[in-house]
Amino acid sequence: MIGTPKKTFQILKKYNFKFKKSFGQNFLIDNNILNRIVDGAQIDENTMVIEIGPGIGSLTEALAKKAKKVISFEIDTRLLPILEETLIDYNNIKIINEDILKVDVDAFIKSELADCDKVMVVANLPYYITTPILTHLLENTTLIDGYVVMMQKEVANRLNAKVGTKDYNSLTILLNYYTDVEYLFTVPKKVFVPAPNVESAVVRILTKKKKEFNVNEEKFFKFVRSCFSQRRKTLMNNLITFIGKDKKELLMNICLEVNIDPTRRSETLTINEFNNLHKKLLDSNIIN
Ligand code: SAM
Repeated sequence: MIGTPKKTFQILKKYNFKFKKSFGQNFLIDNNILNRIVDGAQIDENTMVIEIGPGIGSLTEALAKKAKKVISFEIDTRLLPILEETLIDYNNIKIINEDILKVDVDAFIKSELADCDKVMVVANLPYYITTPILTHLLENTTLIDGYVVMMQKEVANRLNAKVGTKDYNSLTILLNYYTDVEYLFTVPKKVFVPAPNVESAVVRILTKKKKEFNVNEEKFFKFVRSCFSQRRKTLMNNLITFIGKDKKELLMNICLEVNIDPTRRSETLTINEFNNLHKKLLDSNIIN
């Protein structure tokens, strides 16, 4: 087992491995947590797992014991010879040396999926790009059935934040549109090497089989993000920045037509209110 303190330090020493902060490298050294992550993903022998950032392979190993295959994307070339050694006993693991943010995951799954009936993303995410990774995957493909991922606790709280709270933002809306989110458990700093500065959490994110409404997703999320671009400002002021000062009166009227007080802050708008407002702005040719 790779994910014990003893084995991890042995490997790090053997390869004289120095952690790269810029790659968000905090390796898990607690088998109990590793097993709880794998259990949370409800993997079976027909599941294909996509892992982001295998590190020295501790979670990869735990996943390979349950899944049909595990495909791990790792950006750090220095880890490749290490993974070759630590995962030598498994023939259902493929390591791909690529930046996950540059991978067309949809095309990739289509080419690899043939013999699997479920696709799960399971990862101890590199924290510096938690939001870009989730956004990239959710917007790029609907072929992933779910995600069981570790992230900063603070970001986990945003994923299923209630409307009107300080944690509620455009990421909450994105997740709410595509998925159902469940907070699984909190993870203390001490189970990582090196220990991160913040507490972590594992969440389960299941892709909705049927969305509540259909939109042009690229346009809708661009609009939602622009409404949150300056949190302290009202919805109206964010809209003006996005659309133009000369449209102020028109924007006021449109907000009122869809029953939204323009002096509200964006964090008080439900996803349906954002949808109504966006639709109305499109129909009125104020945005396109
Ligand atoms: N899975 C290992 C574990 O739990 O011990 C390592 C997790 S560590 C938090 C994050 C991993 O993601 C590191 O191995 C890092 O090199 C890798 N990584 C960072 N940025 C990446 C990217 N853009 N694409 C793929 N892997 C990345």
